[in-house]
Amino acid sequence: MSDLLIKCLSYNQAVRIYVANTKDIINEIGDRLNYYPSALAAMGRVLTVGAMIGSTLKGNETVTVKVEGNGPIGLIMVDANPKGEVRAYVQNPHCHFDNPETHKLDVKSTVGDRGFISVIKDLKLKEPFIGTVPIISGEIAEDFAYYFNVSEQILSAVALGVLVDEDSRAVSAGGFMVQLLPNAPEEVVSRLEEKIKALPPVSELLNQGKTLEQIAGMIGDETTTVIETLPLVFKCSCSKERFARGIVSLGTEEIAKMIEEDKGAKTTCHFCGNEYYFSESELQTILKEATEKENELNK
Ligand SMILES: [Zn+2]
Repeated sequence: MSDLLIKCLSYNQAVRIYVANTKDIINEIGDRLNYYPSALAAMGRVLTVGAMIGSTLKGNETVTVKVEGNGPIGLIMVDANPKGEVRAYVQNPHCHFDNPETHKLDVKSTVGDRGFISVIKDLKLKEPFIGTVPIISGEIAEDFAYYFNVSEQILSAVALGVLVDEDSRAVSAGGFMVQLLPNAPEEVVSRLEEKIKALPPVSELLNQGKTLEQIAGMIGDETTTVIETLPLVFKCSCSKERFARGIVSLGTEEIAKMIEEDKGAKTTCHFCGNEYYFSESELQTILKEATEKENELNK
């Protein structure tokens, strides 16, 4: 089963259910940047909810999800869009915590239990939509449920899970997001609460080989229907040209130093690990561009 997301309607269209499987993307990112296990789990949870939020957008809209906790992983950032393209960055992928009692990955110690989560939606309007709430748990799923309830005023439940083996690879990963539409009757709320409470962890369901439809069926009632199926893919938007523009913005002094001291420059994309090398003559061209830009500004 390659990575996929399904959107469903249930309880006579009063509830939206999103279910996603994200194992392959998480492993691709983990392999590229050599993530440690609990860092992989933390990134994977944020990536999964980011992909689900991305799927709620339209056309060329995009979303950036940020988790800024006080734990050693530092900033976690995910970019996603309604095409199912997603990428992730963390400040420090080389941290790992185990709970000594349960021997389970300790995501909370990795992320921290203080800080903020932000959802920045670029809806191609003048200003982006930005919603920010404090971190209330550090386990990610609860934090995003809180975000939806408080910042977007959508009654929601979120479950996220990444099961990691001894080789730091995800064995199963994914999650679900349940959102009540404003017309949802009170009895639907209590039925949903009961059903979700009784569910095993989502990473366990996926590990048992349950399909996304089966998981949606366990959350929804007999009216559950899949309205969209979206393949999810890892995609990084970096390019040599983008990095060249980044170097231009460093200014002439800095670029001259790169030419003088290093006879070139190597840049690394922290989302995908790709490296871009700039030769001395390429830097000369970039320096020329930066000089023109500075002259323009000083006119
Ligand atoms: Zn990249």
